[in-house]
Formats: sequence, structure tokens, C-alpha cells
Amino acid sequence: MITFAAGPSKVFDALPFYLQDAYQEGILSANHRSSVFMNLYQEVEELMRKKLHMPEDYKLLFTSSATENWEIISQSIVEKASFHIYSGSFGKKWFDFASHILPSSSGLKIQANEVINVPALQIGEEFDLIAITQNETSNASQVTMRTLEAIKDKFPEKLIAVDTTSSMAGIELDFELADIWYASVQKCFGLPAGLGILILSPRAIEKTVQKGERGRYNSLNFMLDNAAGYQTHYTPNVLGIYLLKRVLKDIEEVQHIDANLRERMRKLETCIAHTKAFRMLVDNEEARSTTVMGVAGSEEMIASVKKAAEKEGMQLGGGYGPLKATSFRIANFPAITNQEMDVLIEFLSQY
Ligand SMILES: *Cc1c(COP(=O)(O)O)cnc(C)c1O
Repeated sequence: MITFAAGPSKVFDALPFYLQDAYQEGILSANHRSSVFMNLYQEVEELMRKKLHMPEDYKLLFTSSATENWEIISQSIVEKASFHIYSGSFGKKWFDFASHILPSSSGLKIQANEVINVPALQIGEEFDLIAITQNETSNASQVTMRTLEAIKDKFPEKLIAVDTTSSMAGIELDFELADIWYASVQKCFGLPAGLGILILSPRAIEKTVQKGERGRYNSLNFMLDNAAGYQTHYTPNVLGIYLLKRVLKDIEEVQHIDANLRERMRKLETCIAHTKAFRMLVDNEEARSTTVMGVAGSEEMIASVKKAAEKEGMQLGGGYGPLKATSFRIANFPAITNQEMDVLIEFLSQY
């Protein structure tokens, strides 16, 4: 059975070999204050620069999940309040967690089909951070780098934090456009869940030091103190970090992955557009995700296509939240091979 779910998602086919190597290399018992671990951390950071084009002066940190990053940002970076622009369930959850820590946080909800209207955007002095879910996994929408650039140009004094949980390592991100980027490894990195990634610009680090928040296990200043020597603030998920290193070593540079995923998505779009039973959840091309396809249909057809796909050894991703019964999702993630995607497209084209 191959899963097209958008997370946890299909892991890379080489995973069994990486796991075997991890055991044999003795990394699983490595102390996180040892040079073995410190070298591993440094190597992953360098690979993030080489393969994903993370800038030289940005810092890579390890957390437990994207969800943890939501809390860390409000707790340790934001001084006044954050302003959230969101269209779906993950963006809303981030806003909810932020509001719990900083009650004066506010937000603007847009439709999945809508592109952020930057010229009309008003964000006052009382907000020092803009929060954007770049790839909204729940409704298969995305915010383009062009829109991010327009936001950065309009609000140069504010920090920008970007949730790229289901797009980092899938599409090419322009890290210079924002200060805080984060992801989890169970989406485009094609790895088992249990490791979060947090990337900070020099300005985000400066703000963190300025805020001076300390005392919690995941206070960012505490994390940064440890990260300066390639260590972590608690015993980390060494296996997850090792697997991340192996994946980053083996993948192509991100612009090539990006091009391949875009081409596959075009094929999938054409297929869905030609079916009678289904339509794309996001019909505005500007707002449609590159890494997650949302497909809408009647409750009956959705139930039936999922069942038929299972018979063919393919598991479609369920709809999320309010869209559960009337949609399904397809992860267009790098661990899914072109051949597997072709088989799925062939199957869907019968509808
Ligand atoms: C999956 C996902 C999350 C949550 O990730 P966890 O690793 O479960 O914390 C957050 N945001 C987006 C956009 C996601 O797709």
C-alpha cells in the first residue's frame, strides 16, 4: 500500500538502509554532548545550506514539531503581539496558540482561493510579527514567494514568520524574505514524524536576545546558547537528525525537486480538470499549493474513490476538518516517485 496522505506521508524508499546504517554506525547511542553529535548537527546545517539554500547567516535549530514552534515563536520572539494571515485549519491553530500566550494577537482570515491583498493590508504598530502559513495543508492553498516579498517590502520593520511544514524541501523557498521558517520532517522530507526544524535569521536571533525570555525548557535563548556549540537543550531525536542528514545528502538541490514537483502537479491538475466527478478545491492557480492537491466532490464519490483506490494499493489522503467528507488530498511530496504519481493519475482519470 502506498500512501498519498499529506502527513505522516510516504517515507523515502531508502529509509530501511539509512536505519540499518544508523544502528551499525553506533549513532543511536551517541551522547548529545559528544563530538559525534556536534559534527552531525553541523553537517545537517551545512547540508541545509547546500541543498535547500538556507542562507549562511541563518541558524538551524531542532525542535519536536511544527506545533512546538508555534509556541516558541510567541513565547520567545514576539514582544507585543503577532498578526496572523490564514485561510485554513493549521493557520487557525497557530493563531489560537499565539493568542493563548499573547492575547492581543490578531488575525485576518482569507479564503483558500484568495491571494493576500497586500496593498490593502493594514497592520498596526501594536504587532511586531506577521505570521503566514505558506503552505496550508488543510485546504491545499499556498502563499507565493512573490506575495511574501510584497509583505516584506510593505512592513520592513516587522518580523515575518512562515509555516512551511508541508513545503520545505519540496519547493524552493527564498529564506531572505522572512526571519523565521519552520517545518516538520514527516512531510516533504519523507521521514518518520518526531522532529521539528526551526530556522532563524540574524534579526530573529537579535529580537530573541533582546526579549531575554528564559526559564522554560524550550526558551529560545536557552536553545540558542546550546546551538552555538552544535548542541541541543535536551537529549534530542538523534535518529531523526541522522535520517535528516542522510536524506539531505541524497536529494538533489531544491530547484530540481521544485521543478519536478511543479511538472507533476500540472499533470495532476489536468487530470482532475478533465474528470466529471471531481474539481480542484482551490481553482485559483495563484493560490493553489504545489505540494498538496485538494480534490472536492460529492460525499458519495469521495467515499467511493477512496475505496477503489485502496483496492489498487493506493491510500488517498482524507479531507481535513470541515472538508473531511467532501474532499480528499494528494501529497505531491518528493518521496513519492514519478512512476507512483503516474499510476495515481492514470487511476483518477477514469472518473
Ligand atoms: C502538519 C502541519 C503542522 C503540524 O505539524 P506537527 O509536526 O504535527 O506539529 C503545522 N502546520 C502545517 C502547515 C502542517 O502541514
